[in-house]
Amino acid sequence: MSASTPDPTGRPLAEGPHDPEHDPTASYALEPEYVEALTRRILATSGETAEVRSPINGAPLAHIPQSTEDDVVEAFARARRAQEAWARTSLEHRSAIMLRLHDLVLDRQDEILDLIVWESGKARKHAFDEPMHIALTARYYGRTAHEHLDTKRKLGVVPGLTRVEVNRVPKGVVGIISPWNYPFTMALCDGLPALLAGNAVVAKPDAQTMLSALLGAQLLEEAGFPKDLWQVVAGPGSRVGTSVIGKADYICFTGSTATGKKVAAGCAERLIGCSLELGGKNPMLVLRDADVERAAEGAVRASFSNAGQLCVSMERLFVADQVYDRFVERFVARTEAMTLGATLDWGNDMGSLISQDQLDTVVRHVDDAVAKGARVLCGGKARPDLGPFYFEPTILEGVTPEMTCFGEETFGPVISLYRFHDEADAVARANDGEYGLNASIYSRDGARARDLARQVKCGTVNINEAFGATFASIDSPMGGMRESGMGRRQGSEGIHRYTESQSVGTQRLLRFAPMLGMSDEQYAGVMTANLRLMKKLGRA
Ligand code: NAD
Repeated sequence: MSASTPDPTGRPLAEGPHDPEHDPTASYALEPEYVEALTRRILATSGETAEVRSPINGAPLAHIPQSTEDDVVEAFARARRAQEAWARTSLEHRSAIMLRLHDLVLDRQDEILDLIVWESGKARKHAFDEPMHIALTARYYGRTAHEHLDTKRKLGVVPGLTRVEVNRVPKGVVGIISPWNYPFTMALCDGLPALLAGNAVVAKPDAQTMLSALLGAQLLEEAGFPKDLWQVVAGPGSRVGTSVIGKADYICFTGSTATGKKVAAGCAERLIGCSLELGGKNPMLVLRDADVERAAEGAVRASFSNAGQLCVSMERLFVADQVYDRFVERFVARTEAMTLGATLDWGNDMGSLISQDQLDTVVRHVDDAVAKGARVLCGGKARPDLGPFYFEPTILEGVTPEMTCFGEETFGPVISLYRFHDEADAVARANDGEYGLNASIYSRDGARARDLARQVKCGTVNINEAFGATFASIDSPMGGMRESGMGRRQGSEGIHRYTESQSVGTQRLLRFAPMLGMSDEQYAGVMTANLRLMKKLGRA
């Protein structure tokens, strides 16, 4: 593994020595005016701030104003007022703004990528996935608004006399609670269908990555969404997140399974709906007929994208006996050739973890596995020479159930290799545990792999790809089975979750009661004959 120079300073960022301990004001990574313009968007009156530092080099980035309970109440009041007017706008109007957002995000990608890299420490190529995902989401929903939201005719009970149609009514104000790992797209992507369906949003992004989320809010306004339609509040999830759950008409949560259970309980208390995009311990299967080189390339992206801090990245790799040695040789060689670095430019294959907490978890999982007998084929060490939270991409062999990383999500650049002889056994092992988010299968026989996919208990399965084939196909639903989630983002499920379906039935001539002097018994007889006739006629 080679290292690129740890010198991240560059465009449009302030120059200066990065020695925050001694002179914090001299070492800000971003221009103070730029940060101020972003943080002004937070509804916060407490006067308190929380400092955020860059994982790249520890330089301070911003002091984030903290919201109070009253601020959350005010955010919902503003959002509700804006939503009433917004719900009366046409779908054409909303779609046009959505498509402008698409262009804006692509045009402003340098600024977006710089901010994401400073704030999260990820490699620039992994940061690029974020504006790309927003552009894909904006284009998809902008172009399919009518398909999802138009009033639809349904079968009336009496042909010709009962007309039924279903409206899609916006829920109102949606609360979006998002994590730090993809700070731009996770803060925005689920909100786009909410807005398109006529809702307002109150967003509570993760405390570590507020700036990327705020840039997203700014771009929404620049694209043409009304200012008050998207409110941002800031503060610890246990306090501000709980307040958001207390006020919202629906909650979209992305984060850990442990927090997701608390969110679900809060929503149940208020009888509001929620979608939960949670953790995973995702399996990849390399079958005996896989293209080994292609699988090794895919395994690198599957395991080390965003330093493994990706909900759909792989942490368990099951490889068929017949190709095991060849695959492992290629996978290790490709991993060893990766460039690690703390720079804003495009040269790095992997960046930093986001925080000391993340580093501690990764070190704990690897040390525990090694102490209990696992072999490190590659990586295995922190890299303080590159930055405070760097850890090498790590491949483990010989991981057993008593090791923490066997079943617990590491959410870092650590993958365990397992050999298998029998595909049924591999699928059973892949299905082991409580998670069910994403899986990947490599095989030259697409039909066979698709057959096998049906047996894998995961919400998405990617064949001959790590996660992009499903994640970037916005027309298809994305989410987890079992403890990996509830509900789906993307596709029609991803927008219908933000609507109430309302059935409107109009009855002509016939009443649903005895008519023309009929007794109840005669009415029952007529209806029974009618039911039999409808079945004979093949009506649903
Ligand atoms: P987390 O659950 O700690 O935090 C996520 C968000 O919830 C943050 O905004 C946090 O402030 C907020 N929060 C924390 N406690 C809360 C509470 N009691 N009430 C309301 N909100 C609260 O998750 P994390 O560690 O920041 O993120 C990593 C996890 O997210 C991993 O498990 C990862 O797999 C998962 N994730 C899943 C997806 C997906 O699409 N399935 C995507 C990204 C991340």
